[in-house]
Order: sequence, then C-alpha cells, then structure tokens
Amino acid sequence: MSQSVVIDEPELRHECGVCGVFGHAEAANLTYLGLYAQQHRGQEAAGVTSCDGTLFHTHRGMGRVADVFGPQDIARLEGEHAIGHVRYSTSGASIERNAQPLVIDYQHGGLAMAHNGNLVNAAHLRRYLERQGSIFQTDMDTEVIIHLVARAPGASVEDRLARALREVKGAYTLVALTESRLLGVRDPLGFRPLVLGVIDGAYVLASETCALDLIGADFIRDISPGEMVVISDAGIESYFPFEAQPRRMCVFEYMYFARPDSTLDGINVYQARKAIGRELAREHPVEADVVVPVPDSGVAAAMGYAEESGLPLELGLIRNHYVGRTFIEPQQEIRHFGVKVKLNAVTSVLKGRRVILVDDSIVRGTTSAKIVGMVKASGASEVHMRISAPPTIGPCHYGIDTPDRDQLIAANRTLEGIRDNLGCESLGYLTLEGLYRGMGGRGPGYCDACFSDDYPVTPEEGTPQMSLLREDA
Ligand code: SF4
Repeated sequence: MSQSVVIDEPELRHECGVCGVFGHAEAANLTYLGLYAQQHRGQEAAGVTSCDGTLFHTHRGMGRVADVFGPQDIARLEGEHAIGHVRYSTSGASIERNAQPLVIDYQHGGLAMAHNGNLVNAAHLRRYLERQGSIFQTDMDTEVIIHLVARAPGASVEDRLARALREVKGAYTLVALTESRLLGVRDPLGFRPLVLGVIDGAYVLASETCALDLIGADFIRDISPGEMVVISDAGIESYFPFEAQPRRMCVFEYMYFARPDSTLDGINVYQARKAIGRELAREHPVEADVVVPVPDSGVAAAMGYAEESGLPLELGLIRNHYVGRTFIEPQQEIRHFGVKVKLNAVTSVLKGRRVILVDDSIVRGTTSAKIVGMVKASGASEVHMRISAPPTIGPCHYGIDTPDRDQLIAANRTLEGIRDNLGCESLGYLTLEGLYRGMGGRGPGYCDACFSDDYPVTPEEGTPQMSLLREDA
C-alpha cells in the first residue's frame, strides 16, 4: 500500500513567460505553441495578440493555454505578427483584466505588450502617473510601462520604450508589438531570460529555448542584458539604450524555474542541475541505501547526487501530473476547495531503507515536513534530506513569488531547528560556493539574493512584494 500527501500549494512560483513571432503566416498559432511549451512559467492566465499590419486581435483568458485557446480562437488571430504571455499572478487579483498582452491605442498607433518580471518602483510611478491624470485599467505593473511609453517623447517606438524603461527599476523581460515592429527587451541586469530564434525566415522571441524547440525554430542567440532588439520587415536591429550594469541573471532559473531542456545564456538547465547535485553529494555525503528525488524539479540534482555517491537512484516518490495545480486560481476560497497536487510514495522502494531525499528548496518547510513524514510512514528506516540550493533566507523582488521573510523557515530557524521541524535524521544544504562550482563558476554574474541577502536592486520602501498594484496595496 502506498502513502500519499497533499501539497496544499507550491512554495515558489514563476510570474510569467513570453513569446513573439514576426513575419509568419501562422504567427498566432506558433505563439500559442510557444506559450504551450512555457506553461510551467505561469498557469493562471494566457493570451495572444496578433497584428495584421493595421488591426490588433487579442484573445486572453484565465487558465492554462490549452483551456484558453480553441482552434477558432487561433483562427481569429489574423496577421503575420503576434506576441503572447502566460501569467501567474501573485497576491494581486486573479481576474481576466489582468491577463496579458496589454493592448492600447495611443497617439502613435497601436501597442501590445507582454512582461515577465517585477518592477520595484511601480507603486511610486503609478501614484505619480495617477496624480498626472492617468487612469489605470489593471493592477499590473506592466501598465505603468505602457503609460510611460505613451507619455514619452521620441521619434520611434524604440526611442519611447527606451525612455520609459529608464524610469523603471527591477526586472523586466518584455515583448512588444506595433503595426510594423516586434520589440524584445531584457533589463540591464538580465534577471529573466529571453532568446531569439528563427523559423521559415521569421524571427521568434521567447523566454526559454524549449519554446523554440517545440515550434521547430532554430536558436540564434540569447538577448543580452540591457539589449533591445527591433524586428521589422527591414530585418533585426540591436540597441543597448541603458547604462551598462553588471549582469545578474536569476540563478534560481537554473535550479528550479526553467525547464530542464532549456538552455539559458549558454548553460543547459538539466546539466546545471545534475552538476549541482554532484556538488551536493561532495559536500554532504551520508551512509544510505538509496537516493530518491522529490519530483519533478529535484530529479536532475538527485541523478547527480546518485552518480557522485555511487548509490542507486530510485523513484520512491511519484507525482500525479493529472491532478492539477491549486495555484491556477490562487484566491483563498478557491484554493481550499480546488484540486490538490499529490505525491505518492512507493513503499517497495522505501521500506526498511536509509533514504537520501533530494529536493531543490525548502521554503516554509510545511511541504517538506509532509514529504519526510510520508516517506517515513512508508517504512524508511532513516531519511536524510539534501537540498540542492543554499537556505532560502529572503524574498524575491524580481518576478518570483516567495513568501515574506517571516515565513521562510531558514530565515527563522537554525539548521538543527529546521531538521527537527522536518523530522529527518540529517539535513544538508548546498553552499553558495558549491552552487557556483556546479554552475561552472560565478560566470558573468548572477542574482542570488534570496540565498545571500545581496539584492542587486533595492526595493522601494514599503513596496509590497509582488503585489505592487493591487487595489488594496
Ligand atoms: S532573489 Fe532569488 S529568485 Fe529572485 S531573482 Fe534573485 S536569485 Fe532569482
């Protein structure tokens, strides 16, 4: 018989993923597929805006990509250019008007925009704009960028967008569409990824390379931190309109968020996770019988751990992929009645064995404690928890939904206190040094603020994390 545990909610969540196609007869369909591949970056809402050179056509809705779009919806998205977005809202309202892309008509024509990231000064900018008479239609910080673009001087949309973005602080990877241009921008620190590909001569922008793979596009290159690309019938142009800053790509993209088959800034996510797992085994060896990953994101690190330790890897925990995720609709009343994500323990793997349980993070500790309890209830004689990341001690202000510091178990307890809370025999976290050894060095620079407290951009004082513009903020 197997034991099971209900995970009430995932502990860390993406905010968004983006995609854009310019100059393809099936632009909307390819964009939809690009979103499909990036569903892991946001399951709450999805949308595509296309342009036929004159008119913009938009379809957005709540839910996953497959739920939001039917064949007739795609067929209505006419035109050879399109952008799309998958969204996870954090504590802001989970409502359709917050689905992206945002589309406006202003004095220079039409503009659609989709955003992955989080601005740390959006509340301040919004108050300023509202005092100037701006009226906001959504809760999203993306709309602040749209207002700034509409007010910005400049001869071209790229000039106006660059002017607007010089006002904002924080993380933004954007795709934007006008009647004649597709723009892609990565903020100067490069928190979130953006890649460029090509299919049938049409350019594609996407958050991750897995989107290019799905539609059969060839990877060209990563968009660099601080770069703006402008794609038109004339081809592609590249600008660096911002003051250069040291690159601070989110290291957690590699460890947790991105799909393992994606390659970001030249590093394959799966290989990085395996190498990190090997480092974890070197730092925290223990006598045991079997290495068991917490699926899914702990699997590659557990493979690396098993490889390095010489212990067998067994799938002692199985995730039910068909249950659904409670965070599709994160309002409390829905979450509690909604479908649950389940992990099932394989008793035949665990019974009477000393188990090394490999996971990629401990956030609040509640889910980890349930999993340890389940493994023990399945007859494991010992459970040794190994975490392929340093302790999470601070919240993210750059596009990942994390709890406040007072809810982060590692910010409030000693290692022994956490181990005691989880109920395992031993606990080992990877060090920051071990993490970067696994990543092949500190490379061109990463953000690791949630592990190190070294925040590359200071959040605006009093800014509520990840819910900057909700009505009750
Ligand atoms: S604080 Fe953590 S999750 Fe946020 S960008 Fe930095 S490394 Fe990534």
